[in-house]
Amino acid sequence: MTELRPSNPRVAPLVAYDPKSLPADTFISANESPYDMDPELKQKVLERLAALPFNRYPDPLAGKLRALIAQGYGLPGPDCVLLGNGGDELLMDLFLAYGGPERTLLNTPPTFSVYAYNALLTGTRVVDVPRRADFSLDEDAIMARAARGDIDLLVITSPNNPTGNVANVGFLRRLLESSDALVLVDEAYMEFADAGCSMTPYLGEYPNLLILRTFSKAYGLAGVRLGYVLGDPRVIRELGKVRQPYSVDSISQVLGEVVFADRTRYDARIRETRGERARLSAKLAALPRVRVFASQANFLLVRVPDAHAIWQDMYEQDSVLVRDFSATPGLEDCLRITVGSPQENDRFLQALCKQLDRRR
Ligand code: PMP
Repeated sequence: MTELRPSNPRVAPLVAYDPKSLPADTFISANESPYDMDPELKQKVLERLAALPFNRYPDPLAGKLRALIAQGYGLPGPDCVLLGNGGDELLMDLFLAYGGPERTLLNTPPTFSVYAYNALLTGTRVVDVPRRADFSLDEDAIMARAARGDIDLLVITSPNNPTGNVANVGFLRRLLESSDALVLVDEAYMEFADAGCSMTPYLGEYPNLLILRTFSKAYGLAGVRLGYVLGDPRVIRELGKVRQPYSVDSISQVLGEVVFADRTRYDARIRETRGERARLSAKLAALPRVRVFASQANFLLVRVPDAHAIWQDMYEQDSVLVRDFSATPGLEDCLRITVGSPQENDRFLQALCKQLDRRR
């Protein structure tokens, strides 16, 4: 057999998601935490893992962690929470349950590319309401488009990846009030934002509000794959119908329980990242020909002439890897820099200054 039967026509023309990961001494490309788990906490995890029977399937819905999270957010019960194999899995569940043929997503590019990709995979129609030049949401256009009544699902990312700005809480509340569409507010980076930016206080008020959170960023568990959504039990029930039965393994459940129970321990790291974000942002703003966008996340978006070449030269000459967005529509000449440790941030600044000097 030399010929192969083609894959699903929806899948065949797609190009697989590429996180653009390359080995680097200064890896500030994937919005991870620069620090691994505190050794004391890691020891606690290892002790729990030693007692775990690996021959048994995990608790399918991660009941203990679900209850802990519900309690942590002051929600009525565990049925307001669903865990997933990273936020990424829950984003696919969302499209399986609320997208699909004959269904419509309202998206606000430039934003996290996975939403549009999942829409393609599930045959969901996409209506784009592009962000303004400063990457703020075009609130009037979103309200007007949602008012037509054919939108089933909206995804609003706050803070937005890769632009770093937050959505206005008052606007989101007006949107939730005015439409019966499901609104996913993707708060993957919310722990790094100022107080008062999250939609979690409004969960009881709007049944069409769903919030995504992850352990990958502020809680430094990107390697573990653990995320969750918070929402109305009726919405959570629909997501439960499409999810993989055992996607959250028992090891991840233990890690989630230990970290969530001790989450205030992470406050100091979050403060450091916010401080480094301010320091980096001020240094970048002082450089000629560099525009830095205000960010509430653990990364900064910058616009710099010749961005792609600078990205490549920083990597090849100084082994500093940042994320190149210059080929993304609306993000021409943009690079995204994850806020790393102070030393990583200094190495990046040095490498960038060198490239800017060379091009003077
Ligand atoms: N939402 C946004 C906006 C993200 O940037 C990411 C991570 N790149 C995710 C969700 C998913 O994160 P994870 O699967 O690691 O939980």
